[in-house]
Amino acid sequence: MLEVDDLHVSYGAVNAVQGVSVGADAGRVTLVLGANGAGKTTSLRAIAGYHRPKSGSVMVGTDEVAGERAHSMVRRGVVLVPEGRRVFATLTVEENLRVGGYRAPRAKVQRTLAEVYEQFPILSERRNTAAGLLSGGEQQMLAFGRAVMSQPKVILMDEPSMGLAPSMVDSVMAKVREIADTGIAVLIVEQNADAGLAIADNVSVITRGVTVWSGPAESASRAAVHAVLGESALEDVPAEGAPVGGVDS
Ligand code: ATP
Repeated sequence: MLEVDDLHVSYGAVNAVQGVSVGADAGRVTLVLGANGAGKTTSLRAIAGYHRPKSGSVMVGTDEVAGERAHSMVRRGVVLVPEGRRVFATLTVEENLRVGGYRAPRAKVQRTLAEVYEQFPILSERRNTAAGLLSGGEQQMLAFGRAVMSQPKVILMDEPSMGLAPSMVDSVMAKVREIADTGIAVLIVEQNADAGLAIADNVSVITRGVTVWSGPAESASRAAVHAVLGESALEDVPAEGAPVGGVDS
């Protein structure tokens, strides 16, 4: 569904991403792990069309789309749920959701809205509440619901558990799993490795802007520890995993 190969992104002279390769498949959760500053957010933003990559390939189905802008990526079915949720605080829940469905004809928006309310009952209960009055967990649900309103094939999620009360983390992550189970490809960045691993099918580890390991989630626990530790080289990755590229020691 989504295949990213050897992505390079820079901010002026800063090479933030210098060889990220990652994929996302329909109905699957792919977890991206990496230390602070590893280039996770930059990768997601470049894939979603908010930052132009310097080089590399981004395939959606059979189309090469690297460098396309965000509105075009949304049309292709790729949507970003940004870090910090970024809901429109003064708009109601329903108004926020309608923003997510702005491209679709009115009747279709109504239908999708009903589906989103069914999938996210808390949003239905709060439909007339200003988004700024919701709890962090509810705002995260709203950010997911807004993404689902665009009827995406791929959702990119940047640290959905960030800043949430521990009691909310599990239900937010369960919802991520549920979204993937509807057939959407989910590519998720998480600092909370345990919470991410609990729902992931596949894992990619990024160190200093480079994908250093990719493999099935059940083989990823040691790689995850390395990722949390940060800059240590993955010399002894699990044998079952497929090392990607080289790592400077
Ligand atoms: P975190 O988990 O802390 O958000 P991350 O893995 O998402 O980290 P990025 O935010 O993508 O990492 O940052 C990657 C690198 O790019 C870092 O060295 C960061 O300092 C740098 N960087 C990020 N945004 C900018 C920017 N707007 N201008 C210059 N450098 C930036």
